[in-house]
Amino acid sequence: MATLTLRSLAKRFGESVALTPTDLEVADGEFVVLVGPSGCGKTTLLRMVAGLESPSGGDILIGGQRVNALEPRARDIAMVFQNYALYPHMSVRKNLAYGLKLRRMDKAEIARRVAWAAELLGLNEYLDRKPRALSGGQRQRVAMGRAIVREPQVFLFDEPLSNLDAKLRAAVRVEIKRLHQRLATTTLYVTHDQVEAMTLAQRVVVMNRGRVEQIGHPSEVYARPATTFVAGFLGSPPMNLFEARLTAAGDAVEVSGLDAPLPLPAPVANGNRAVTLGIRPEAFVPDTAGTLPFALDLEEPLGAETLLHGQLGGQACTLRLSADTLPADATAVTRLSVVPEALHLFDAESGARLR
Ligand code: ATP
Repeated sequence: MATLTLRSLAKRFGESVALTPTDLEVADGEFVVLVGPSGCGKTTLLRMVAGLESPSGGDILIGGQRVNALEPRARDIAMVFQNYALYPHMSVRKNLAYGLKLRRMDKAEIARRVAWAAELLGLNEYLDRKPRALSGGQRQRVAMGRAIVREPQVFLFDEPLSNLDAKLRAAVRVEIKRLHQRLATTTLYVTHDQVEAMTLAQRVVVMNRGRVEQIGHPSEVYARPATTFVAGFLGSPPMNLFEARLTAAGDAVEVSGLDAPLPLPAPVANGNRAVTLGIRPEAFVPDTAGTLPFALDLEEPLGAETLLHGQLGGQACTLRLSADTLPADATAVTRLSVVPEALHLFDAESGARLR
């Protein structure tokens, strides 16, 4: 069993806290993505698992065995870095074989594993080339190949796609997903890109300022963000957040700048207080009989969908409309409706989800 368990894992650099005590269990064969903005502590967490950084507190267990005191080499993990970290003077074949050679693996077994990885990653025709004669995407595939030939218990990925252009990033993302489907190796993957997180993760861990904000299946985190931070981080464009007030009865929200309160599907406790109202850009429906006035500033066509940026009662608001709901003239979108079930409510102060 190759589970990865973190128990109260924490890291301080002098006075500054990079990671508050964090618990996480990655199941055998599971693909977990750590996502969050720059500086949230995700790389520090990954580097501690890899053994490249020592924890200030807590434990790391791989397959149930505590590995805190083990050298990176002895942890039975393989890490793929953003900058590929290939040996420039070695051919692709030698790059793939090198780590195995260091471990004094039998020559025939090395050849078998290199051939297997090259086949799996489509690297056969590049085996005799040096890294400098490869494209960025091919180099990243070699870096992945070097990790998989080790047949480790756990894969660690540190922003592996960030040096690739958008098109290649999407292609390699699919390759990584396919690779995981074939190998089912326990994986911890770090990115700041929420699209990568949503598409790759079986479970996503959203981090902010050294803390875990939410852990869950991507669709669950998207549908029910636990905090305003998660709501504003996942989704492109992210959820619209409005200053609002919960009515005394707790059954509707009054949005600053709007006349009519928006009814909630069920009453929320402790009415008459400041809240943040969240509405996804795709939840709005253009509706001449709608109660929400919209003032368009800018139209952004994306092909199958169009983004309309504007104001809702004086507060910034973005709509995402599909071709069949967008009128020929976008300026005709002046009134909107939204179903009560699409309203997300957060405490204005703590940011915690209320409904
Ligand atoms: P990025 O995506 O920019 O790499 P991150 O979420 O991976 O960000 P970390 O690199 O884990 O964030 O950094 C977390 C915090 O710890 C940051 O505030 C960072 O400045 C700090 N930090 C990281 N490494 C060190 C170090 N060696 N010495 C001091 N502070 C550090």
